[in-house]
Amino acid sequence: MSPPARWGGCLCGRVRYRVSGTSLYDTFCHCVPCQKATGTVAMSSTIRRRSDLEITQGRDVLKAYKDTSTDSGKPLMRNFCGECGSMLFAFPDVLDTVVGVAAGTLDDFDQWRPDTEQYCMRRAGFLEKIKDVDPSRRFTGSVRSEPEAQ
Ligand SMILES: [Zn+2]
Ligand SMILES: [Zn+2]
Repeated sequence: MSPPARWGGCLCGRVRYRVSGTSLYDTFCHCVPCQKATGTVAMSSTIRRRSDLEITQGRDVLKAYKDTSTDSGKPLMRNFCGECGSMLFAFPDVLDTVVGVAAGTLDDFDQWRPDTEQYCMRRAGFLEKIKDVDPSRRFTGSVRSEPEAQ
């Protein structure tokens, strides 16, 4: 049984989307590019199969920034609303079956819980570890790096 689809959209409402199925993982990413892109401590993303994301409205206002500051050097296409600037989707070139959906744009963001922390080495000094994230899912860098020391 798949869970019900979740809806989301940008601040101005021009872009709307639907995600179905289950997340591959839900991550809080402390990397510097995510801090720059969001203007805050981290990027919260629900990582989905691309086939589970349907952009139902506003494709024409989406803009993409080709972020090449990735570990792999392969670009991450950061998609945002050209009208209001909300960060919405990140499409990695390195894994073309996957998309990161900015969890803060989910209509039911209050229900969202991360199960993963990435780039803990860059966690903001005033921020605690997320207590509900299993220590084995707290990575020093990307999800392919070593878990953070306890
Ligand atoms: Zn917008
Ligand atoms: Zn990041």
